[in-house]
Amino acid sequence: MRKVACEREALIEQARKLREDERLTYRQIGERLGVGATTVNRWLNPDHAKKQNAGSVAWKHAHQEHRAAYASKRASSGVCSRCSGRMSLNHTGGVCLTCRGQDAETRCERIAALWGQGRTSTEIAAVLGTTRGTICSDIMRMREAGWDMPPRRRARQPSPKLVTT
Ligand SMILES: [Zn+2]
Repeated sequence: MRKVACEREALIEQARKLREDERLTYRQIGERLGVGATTVNRWLNPDHAKKQNAGSVAWKHAHQEHRAAYASKRASSGVCSRCSGRMSLNHTGGVCLTCRGQDAETRCERIAALWGQGRTSTEIAAVLGTTRGTICSDIMRMREAGWDMPPRRRARQPSPKLVTT
């Protein structure tokens, strides 16, 4: 055991010499001494290596705490009332994101169908139980998303302000 330690010391000394005298890279030193560049780095920067070790221990610890927190959050997260799928974190009631996405899709289809029937946004809002403003912004979003919802061309009443008396 003692001999091995001595040999290691000798190698480190040799590495230091190669570094200082010949200005070799860690990799080159490692090749000469038959070790990896990382080992050479550790030999020549013992303080740094120690710090790195401490850092990784601290990281591991923090990571474990993080994982434990995640696991407990996960365990307390709710179940979707529709598909019984696991809800995403921080959601405990109602339906999961997947179901909500499907709802949104269904809703868009309903809006598009009603729009295709020539219903006004006010009528669509009444059917879906929401406000006209919501429907208008939905329609705008849907158009941006590529839904085919041609704008209505309706004869508009002239605005009262434009009427001259
Ligand atoms: Zn669901």
